[in-house]
Amino acid sequence: ANHTAVVRPSVARLSTGSIPATVGADLLVPLADGRVTDYANFDHGASAPCLESVRAAVEAALPSYASVHRGNGYASRITTQWYERARRQVHEFVGARDDYQVIFTRQTTDALNLLARAVPADATVIVFESEHHAALLPWPAERTVRLAAPESPAQAITAVADALRTAPEGPRLVVVTGASNVTGEIFPIAELAAVARAHGARICLDAAQLAPHREVDIAALDVDWVALSGHKLYAPYGAGALVGRTDWLDAADPYLLGGGATAAVAGDTTVWNEGPARHEGGSPNVIGAIALAAACAAISEHRDAIEQHERSLLARLRTGLAQLPGVTTYSVFGEDADRVGTVCFTVDGLTSTLVSAALSAEYGIGVRDGKFCAHLLVGHLLNDSPEHGTAVRASLGLGTTREHVDRLVNAVRTLTTSGP
Ligand code: PLP
Repeated sequence: ANHTAVVRPSVARLSTGSIPATVGADLLVPLADGRVTDYANFDHGASAPCLESVRAAVEAALPSYASVHRGNGYASRITTQWYERARRQVHEFVGARDDYQVIFTRQTTDALNLLARAVPADATVIVFESEHHAALLPWPAERTVRLAAPESPAQAITAVADALRTAPEGPRLVVVTGASNVTGEIFPIAELAAVARAHGARICLDAAQLAPHREVDIAALDVDWVALSGHKLYAPYGAGALVGRTDWLDAADPYLLGGGATAAVAGDTTVWNEGPARHEGGSPNVIGAIALAAACAAISEHRDAIEQHERSLLARLRTGLAQLPGVTTYSVFGEDADRVGTVCFTVDGLTSTLVSAALSAEYGIGVRDGKFCAHLLVGHLLNDSPEHGTAVRASLGLGTTREHVDRLVNAVRTLTTSGP
């Protein structure tokens, strides 16, 4: 096929296209590699590029940071203030109740594993098979009820209600994603939380995919915990959070045994801290927390514009792909479901690996192919199709422009008619 390569050795700046002036690629740190220009990044669902305001916050902190909490020098006290302010900003970002705490973690995986360690020994955990592995796997197998991937929001609610009704006595925890990392579809969180409440159960929201795109309001949703990742929220890697109730966490063994987690050690006796410090053993990732909080502040500020920007691009992308014969898009709840900017698709006659490689090499488009750490869901969606064991995922975000969307649709059109 005669495709024009779009990887050119000049302009080192993401184009802002026709996106609203208040939101879009102009909020991002420009792509610095001059060899890759006009890069159409459709992999925001994996990790999002860094915001300028995040870079500014990190740059401001780098010259003068010092130890937190246990230092008495000026720089230590300032750094402690930054760290605790970051905690408050994350708390505010998810609309947490005053009595909920923010524990800084490495990412969502870490946050959910931390919660799994704190779940009481006699608790039952209820989780859909459609979850990302980070939300599917940390729970003790013998006390976990796995529900089939739901067919509709209403059926998801019924399935959870039935599972709670028949669960053994004792504490119960429902774990559910806010938005699927495979299809982008939004789960009925407030309704699931209400069902959990009605059965005296608790609910944890995996907000890794939801928080970058939609407001997460813990108080309004009435959830007990929220887990999120900074690197999906336009901050660098290494910082995430578990936000929520304190009781199970204060009763659990510290996540990491060591300094910071301890209130006192005398002889063989150790008294552990309560609150976030209990589970933040070791020197914390202060710069990561500052970056995460700066991202939260910027996203909150632009929340409505981000949603509008992404909704219009997603509609354009879905309409464009729907017109291509040989392209199948996948969904859990059906075409009408509300969703964030993620599309999962396959192309007849081509493996997903080939499609993603051709999009990258010939069109400068970055997508993902595979099972997206949700093997059960992808198997279910593809119905274990021998032709397509894997799918392509295009996930848009702040850096996406209409030109990117059109380029992706046109590239897939060319692939369907001519092959790579
Ligand atoms: N949950 C969902 C829905 C995700 O999409 C992801 C990452 O893709 C995770 C959890 C895990 O996030 P992390 O890799 O940042 O721990």
